[in-house]
Parts: sequence; structure tokens; C-alpha cells
Amino acid sequence: MIIVLKPRITKRQENSVLREIRKLGYEPHVMRGVARTVVGAIGDEEKNPSLEKLTTWPQVESVTPIQSRFRLVSREAHPKNSTVKVGRHLIGGKKMQVMAGPCSVESEKQLMETAHAVRKAGATILRGGAFKPRTSPYEFQGLGEKGLKLLAKARDETGMPIITELLSQKHVDLVAEYADILQIGTRNAQNFQLLIAAARTGKPVLLKRGMSMRIEEWLLAGEYVLANENAGLMFCERGIRTFENYTRNTLDLSTIPAVKQESHCPIVIDPSQGCGRADLISSLCKGAVAMGADALLIEVHPNPAEAWSDGAQQITLDGFKKLMRELKPIIKAAGRS
Ligand code: PEP
Ligand code: MN
Repeated sequence: MIIVLKPRITKRQENSVLREIRKLGYEPHVMRGVARTVVGAIGDEEKNPSLEKLTTWPQVESVTPIQSRFRLVSREAHPKNSTVKVGRHLIGGKKMQVMAGPCSVESEKQLMETAHAVRKAGATILRGGAFKPRTSPYEFQGLGEKGLKLLAKARDETGMPIITELLSQKHVDLVAEYADILQIGTRNAQNFQLLIAAARTGKPVLLKRGMSMRIEEWLLAGEYVLANENAGLMFCERGIRTFENYTRNTLDLSTIPAVKQESHCPIVIDPSQGCGRADLISSLCKGAVAMGADALLIEVHPNPAEAWSDGAQQITLDGFKKLMRELKPIIKAAGRS
């Protein structure tokens, strides 16, 4: 910790700070400048009590931790890119991963038709919501376990691992029994008990960015996952709240270089929730790939006009096929396969 003392304090006030630092298990090193005195407190910040309480002392100007708050997610802690293994796929490796499927699982026919089509077009992981976090309680809430069973059936038929949202702590065991990746949605991004429970299932976690979350808060939420016996963490940008309402959210593509710079964890882009409009998905995917995203999470539906949720942003099976074709040269130019 670096403790900056206020100017013109008495020797007695300074000594009482040094005494307190020693009492809490740290060794103070005093640096006397012209205007101010700075104290470096050296000691194990994990074992000893925090020195933060000194901020309330009248002779103290500031207390700054030396150790990063991002002990596990930061690139400092792990300089190389980390990868997340899902079945035979590696997220964060050389291969660009595409997770695609409907917003909600609606029926066996809808899911199987979508699963086969997206796999054929080149998707590697199947997405589909069985528990849906809907803004209104009167909207479709998802098929629940029946939806999970259909996802498992689609996995059996296509060989694609599945990603689905874990909405509540009471469903942890149930969802983990079926899912290959647990998706934590934007509304739960700072539900820390849920993050811990998700991490402890031993399934990889995809952590969406909270719609009003700063990057620092998002990384700290990820810290909860990595600190709890997890099987891997991916960050997923899905758009944030801004004043703009041309799009449903504002997809913050600057998170790609930012997360890459700050963290070793893979970054996934969800353009579907990100813009809420089928007509913009293709451009956003291309931009995301070119900027170095490790994976895309795209909503695809056989008949978006009839979708039970998020109809305006889901692309058709043909639209997805076309998109995958168009992405090929960009994936290659980004140095991926
Ligand atoms: C979704 O992926 O369908 C979803 C509800 O995501 P988000 O949590 O980003 O809104
Ligand atoms: Mn959706």
C-alpha cells in the first residue's frame, strides 16, 4: 500500500500512522518529499488486515493498493492468452469459434432445424435459451428443463456442444447437468453468488457484460469466477445502455482490444443483443472478427418473424449461411482459421 500523508502534519500524527501500519503487520518505509511524506507499507495484503481504514484518518490524504485487484483475470497474472476447452473445441485459440442458435428454444422442430443448419454453415457451438430473463413477466419465460432436454438432443444429433443461460442459483445443478458452457446474462453479471456457484460446477462460464457495467467492474466479476475452481472464463460483450436508441444497445467493440490488453481470457462478441436489429448483424460480426474477437454469439431462427423472443434481431438460416461465407476472408485476414 502507498499511503500519502497530508502536508504540514505534526511528527506525532505521522508517528501514529507508522505505529498503526506496524500494528497491522506491515513494515513502513518513509519517503520524505519537499511538500509531502509518502509511506510505502510492505507486507502480505492477503494475510494482513487492510490498511484502507487509514483513509478515514485526518492526517492521511490517500491510500493506494500496490497489488492489482485483478489477481487472476489480469494479463499481468497470466501473460499468455488462455483458452477454454469445450468438447473438442478451443475458445481463444487460433480457430475462430461461432456459437449460433435461437434466442429461445421453442420446439423440437425449431431447434433441430436451426442446429443442423448452423452446423452445416460452420458454427461450432449451439446456443439456445431455456430459462429466459424477460423484461416483462407476461412474456415467454422459456421452456425450462424441457428446453434443456431438447438442447441435449440437438447436441447428440449434431455433435455441437451447447451454451445456455443459467438464470438463477436454484437451477445451478439442473442447468450444469445439460450445458457445456454456462452463460451468465447481462442482468446477472454482478450476481456474485451466482457467479461463484456457476464456477464451482466445473463448467466453463461465459460472462456477459452488465448493460451498465464498466470494464473494470466486469473484470472484477470475472475474478469471482476464476477464484472459484472454475473450468475457464470467457468475457462476452453484448452492448451497453447509452443515450442512443437507433440500436437496442450500443455494442462496445472497443472492449475487444481493452479486454485483450487487460486480461488473458477470451473475448466473445454478441452482436444480436448488441444491436437488436437483424440488418446490422453482418457488419458487426465482420468488425468484431477484424478486431480480434475470439468467438461470436449469434441468434439464428428459421422464421424470425414468428420467434417467441427477440424476433427483430435474429437472422434467418440463409442469412447465417451467407454471413459465414462472407466472414471467411476476414477470419483469414485476422490470422485465424
Ligand atoms: C440472450 O443471449 O438471449 C440474452 C438474454 O442475453 P443478455 O443477457 O445479453 O440480454
Ligand atoms: Mn436473445
